[in-house]
Amino acid sequence: MTRRRRVYEGKAKVLFEGPEPGTLVQYFKDDATAFNGVKKSTVTGKGVLNNRISEHLMSRIGEMGIPNHFIRRLNMREQLIKEVEIIPVEVIVRNVAAGSICTRLGLTEGQPMPRTLVEYCFKSDDLNDPLVSEEHITAFGWASSQELDEIMSMTLRINDFLCGLFTAIGIRLIDFKLEFGRYFDGDEMQIILADEISPDNCRLWDIATNEKLDKDRFRRDLGGVEDAYQEVAKRLGIMPEGGPNDLKGSNSMQ
Ligand code: UDP
Repeated sequence: MTRRRRVYEGKAKVLFEGPEPGTLVQYFKDDATAFNGVKKSTVTGKGVLNNRISEHLMSRIGEMGIPNHFIRRLNMREQLIKEVEIIPVEVIVRNVAAGSICTRLGLTEGQPMPRTLVEYCFKSDDLNDPLVSEEHITAFGWASSQELDEIMSMTLRINDFLCGLFTAIGIRLIDFKLEFGRYFDGDEMQIILADEISPDNCRLWDIATNEKLDKDRFRRDLGGVEDAYQEVAKRLGIMPEGGPNDLKGSNSMQ
């Protein structure tokens, strides 16, 4: 197999040059990190599961008319995606209080939001992804106000859609993080959804028991991380081809 050019390596994913201009290959690692990389480990099978879960969710979101970077899954750990210029803003959607907002505003975990809340963080590991407002985003030119309007409208539609999709399988979508990018096609530029949607960047609680089926199991040392991700895949009806015994996938990044 020919060696591919590595374009970017993040905490849980690697991006390689794609087979055609304007495409990239997104490789899902088993590495798990939390608290901005302070806590690190590997969770066997996580990359395979996230590749599959993100494929499923991005495809369903595409079908409801929201443009996104997903083209097709290539194998157990890789998917072909459209290359975008990432907007350096993390879009956080909160339906129920959990995580950083509880400490920041003194809320109780599990308390429903008065209404769905959308927050923005500036994407910077060095600065610990600080919370920013629309004012910062437009003033520093990270995105225009027209782009932000589009992002907000897509985000709210995605939230409505995902809330319904997860409710139908007995899961409550507590919060999640989205990233968007600019996709250039000739002279045209379009804002599209990028990154991934998986239990790594969503909080997912079982509706009946409130059991956590997401990365909080890793962040809080609750154990059963892989089982929780598998449970999400199982309920979505998309367990990897070989079932639970085949979660390793090839780890080769050639
Ligand atoms: N999130 C993420 N990446 C980040 C920060 C947050 O994917 O860099 C996700 C996280 O998994 C959760 C939601 O965004 O589903 C809200 O996270 P929060 O701000 O509460 O931060 P945390 O408690 O994860 O530090």
